[in-house]
Amino acid sequence: MHKKIVKSIIPTVIIGSVVTSLALSSFLSSTGIGKAEAAAAASSSLSFTAFLENNAPNRTIKTVHGLNMVTNLSSTVVLVNKQRNLPSSYVPQDLVVPQIPFSFSGPSPKKQMKRVAATALEKLFAAAKKDGIDLKAVSGYRSYATQKAIFERNARNKGEAVANKTSARPGQSEHQTGLSMDISSASVGYALEQSFGNTKEGKWLKANAPKYGFIIRYGKGKEKLTGYSYEPWHVRYVGVYIAGEITRQNLTLEQYLGQSH
Ligand SMILES: [Zn+2]
Repeated sequence: MHKKIVKSIIPTVIIGSVVTSLALSSFLSSTGIGKAEAAAAASSSLSFTAFLENNAPNRTIKTVHGLNMVTNLSSTVVLVNKQRNLPSSYVPQDLVVPQIPFSFSGPSPKKQMKRVAATALEKLFAAAKKDGIDLKAVSGYRSYATQKAIFERNARNKGEAVANKTSARPGQSEHQTGLSMDISSASVGYALEQSFGNTKEGKWLKANAPKYGFIIRYGKGKEKLTGYSYEPWHVRYVGVYIAGEITRQNLTLEQYLGQSH
């Protein structure tokens, strides 16, 4: 399987001269890309360039009843935002609970993530522990119905304008993809607030998340591009290579996916 992938990707590397061999090995590692994508790449000789082209924002959207719906629902690079909706019926097929510390006890649907993201997050938490950094997971997968209830409660309490900046409308939350987790620390009482970004735990997360395939999805100063306030606690799995590129180039996921076709 690996031989086939390498054969299909190497020409891109030579022609493009942008993917280093280190990045290539990250891309090919089982944690760097979803197993489904790796299998697809092997069986259909998809190159990395083709993978990005197939997942480009303008190729992964269709209009249904006046709403823009995304079509690459289970992709590791699915782009969900205020212009791009997930169907109300979409539930990821491979949700599992990562074996990491949570800020609360007992079973809950919000402990879940897609398997590829859960495995990567376990590695991130193990690395944090090794560095003496105490992180806890707060909220992962969220169903359409739960997101609907959260948005409506926020709109009631804070008004719709504030709710729109700080919470997603149903179908527009990355948490429904199973690829995102909110993370916090005891130093801020496990709150999801911007001060987490100034703690040693928040700084560690920002510096180390890309090594495990995660990006800080709603960056500081990126509000106009993402549509959301700075959220130092919200990480999104995209795979090691892409997370590294997005971080190195200081891009949003919107910008990265938009430039790669
Ligand atoms: Zn979040």
